[in-house]
Amino acid sequence: MSAVMGSYLYSACQKASADYTTLISDIVLAQQATPQLRAALEESSRLPDSEHIQYIDYFISLSKQHLNNIQRSIERHRYLIADVEYLNTHFSELNSRLSELSQQAQEAQQRPELRAPLQRMAIEVGGAQSWLYNQLLEKVRAISVQQRLVMQRLSIAVSALLVLMVSAAITLCLAVIYLQRQRNIMHRLMLTDELTGLYNRRHLVNVASAALIQAQRDRVPLSLLLLDLDHFKQINDNYGHPTGDEVLRQISQLLRQLSRPADTLARIGGEEFCLLMPSTATHDALQAADRLRREIEVNTLSGTDLHAHPTVSIGVTTCQSGSLSFEQLYSFADKALYQAKALGRNRVESLLPPGAPQPIPRHKLALIFSSANLATLKRQLFE
Ligand code: GH3
Ligand code: MG
Ligand code: MG
Repeated sequence: MSAVMGSYLYSACQKASADYTTLISDIVLAQQATPQLRAALEESSRLPDSEHIQYIDYFISLSKQHLNNIQRSIERHRYLIADVEYLNTHFSELNSRLSELSQQAQEAQQRPELRAPLQRMAIEVGGAQSWLYNQLLEKVRAISVQQRLVMQRLSIAVSALLVLMVSAAITLCLAVIYLQRQRNIMHRLMLTDELTGLYNRRHLVNVASAALIQAQRDRVPLSLLLLDLDHFKQINDNYGHPTGDEVLRQISQLLRQLSRPADTLARIGGEEFCLLMPSTATHDALQAADRLRREIEVNTLSGTDLHAHPTVSIGVTTCQSGSLSFEQLYSFADKALYQAKALGRNRVESLLPPGAPQPIPRHKLALIFSSANLATLKRQLFE
């Protein structure tokens, strides 16, 4: 807005100064014509009148023309010089005196005795002309100086306004950026765990609830893994809490690297983690869980003086179909985890909601596919 005001003000200044220049040049031209008229009259008094009458007439009409020009100019630029009305009478007086002078010059051509009064009259008219133009010039100059001053002050005010508005806009932008950053930090703090940088329980519950609805709508399985470090209390007791924290950090990092981008990994308790696996059947979830367990078991943690590798027990469950809440699914994974702990730790156990086909334990699978059983199966099929 202030830029628009500034450019408007600039063009107004330019126009006003151009108008003043036109007016002043008209007055100066008229001023210059005054001595020419007097010179022409003086010449006519010495030389034969008939030769100079046209010469005199020309300068009188030129003076009149200049006078008319100035009057028109004043009329046109009335907004620039409003208080020159008092000069109007002088203008019309000068105009009539110039006409009179022209007539007198014509008469003096035949009557030489009129030359001397003509000379006096010319001097008087010239004086009046000079006085009038000087007055006008002075007035116009004074007003133009005054207006330039006003324009300068206005320009300074507009510039200050522009600077103010730009600073206000910059401050506003900075404030918005700062608030946006604060909001992002708050959001991250709300959804993540400070120690490990993983998602927290709140975020997991939100994501899992939405994923369960989607899985039920798409009729695809969704698996949940619950991981709990084995005998973690002993690590804290033997090596101290800072080492325990470092173990949690490094294991979190490892789990993050091993999980798929579509899965959601969260730290939901002290040394408990949860992995939500959308579009994953029990069989694949069990494979993934066992891979995680093995990687943790063999992975050497850097910067710690642990004598043994930490291990993890994992409970697995799957929502096959039907409507299950996150809490219900979680309780199945928790029971499976409890079972893994009870069966000696560092292992994977699963428990599915009732109605879902239970996964076949590995040792039973081996039995089914042993050669003896295959022979029985063949016989049953082909006989
Ligand atoms: P289990 O195999 O039965 O899971 O045994 P555990 O020792 O891992 O289980 P327990 O629940 O007895 O102990 C968990 C320990 O985890 C106790 C607590 O001091 C520790 N812990 C919880 N949160 C943190 C943490 O943020 N940092 C550290 N260093 N230790 C933690
Ligand atoms: Mg625990
Ligand atoms: Mg534990």
